[in-house]
Amino acid sequence: MMRELVSLEEALEIILAHVSPVGEENIDLSVALGRVLSENVFAPFSLPPFHRSPLDGYAVRAEDIAEASPNEPAELLVMQEIPAGSYSEIEVTRNQAAKILTGAPIPPGADVVIRFEDVRKAGARIKVFRPLPAYTNYCFAGEDISRGERVLSAGVRLGPAAVGILAGLGIRDLPVYRAPRIAVLSTGDELIDITGALGMGKIYNSNLYTLAALIQEAGAQPADEGTVPDRAELITRKIDQALKGADMVLTTGGVSVGDYDAVEDALGQLGAEILFWRVNIRPGTPVICAVKDGKVILSLSGNPAAALITYHLLARPAIAKLQGLSDWKPLKTIAILQDGYPKASGQRRFLRGQAYLENGVLKVKLTGLQSPGIMKSMVNCNALVDVPANSRGLKAGEHVTVFAGHAAIP
Ligand code: AMP
Ligand code: MG
Repeated sequence: MMRELVSLEEALEIILAHVSPVGEENIDLSVALGRVLSENVFAPFSLPPFHRSPLDGYAVRAEDIAEASPNEPAELLVMQEIPAGSYSEIEVTRNQAAKILTGAPIPPGADVVIRFEDVRKAGARIKVFRPLPAYTNYCFAGEDISRGERVLSAGVRLGPAAVGILAGLGIRDLPVYRAPRIAVLSTGDELIDITGALGMGKIYNSNLYTLAALIQEAGAQPADEGTVPDRAELITRKIDQALKGADMVLTTGGVSVGDYDAVEDALGQLGAEILFWRVNIRPGTPVICAVKDGKVILSLSGNPAAALITYHLLARPAIAKLQGLSDWKPLKTIAILQDGYPKASGQRRFLRGQAYLENGVLKVKLTGLQSPGIMKSMVNCNALVDVPANSRGLKAGEHVTVFAGHAAIP
């Protein structure tokens, strides 16, 4: 049943109830950045794989240098040399040493490594002037990752560090969720494609680019379905076509009260079920959410800032769930507002802001004019200030809730 003027939280709940992770595929590590693991990854072996030296020096037995002092240094015979990349099975025995380079396996028998700088060479021998406790300068096999350990969990988005760890474990073939395809189309008789010439009364379709970029940034795959005039049958055809190859469809424009009919009619002709119309926030109140063939169609206001804000608040979490991300919730935190915002507001409102840390305190300043048609204040916006309903305006210095992107990725 269609609901009207739902809260942001209700809207999100309804949308999320209708999306689930897309299918899985296996990909090569070299193209894995930004993808989401569909299975847990376990270490096939330990890292480091062997006990190794963290520095250039001599591998010795702690007990042989236990009595060493500047006046009575211990003298050890250097029996072997172990460069990085090689190894030795020759045991270090009483009063012996092995020259060892950074990253090389510590030979059997030795339990401590003395830095080059801390010994004096005397022919084939070294002099050691002070004792060191056993396992000093000694990296244990598995101290980083132990064999069988779960190194990464299903549902995490792979960042550079995760990619590096997988390489360190020799894992090239990765089970990931397919990158969801998100179709984007814009409706509006006034819209001209960027390749066309701008006539009087026309504007370029910028939403298509903003949304495609946001989708790419999210790690999903945008499918550009272009610009459609405000005519229900044309919109129907476009959405129908878009649904075929996509996991979700975003549209902009044609959902405000005056325009509502075009997209509503189109969704009706398509046989889509409308779940809600309008969300109780500004900007971006006129959102239609519908489903067809198990896929969500989210129709956002054409106002550029409204489209951007409702994308972040509604579409982005849905994309995250499609992607298989275990954590799709936006980061919500408290910041200190630097500017006043005197405008009273009956509806809950989101302001474009830039959050930053200063002397350990999170602050947020507004990025400029806040009307829904203003694009300039979208630039540098990394946080949305949540102004509660029935606000009588905000004063500089107030604590405000901000929505700031998504959880960090490994
Ligand atoms: P609408 O949601 O169709 O009522 O449009 C609201 C405002 O946003 C109007 O000023 C439109 O010209 C503008 N607009 C609609 N679609 C786009 C778009 N794709 N790119 C830039 N501006 C748009
Ligand atoms: Mg319009």
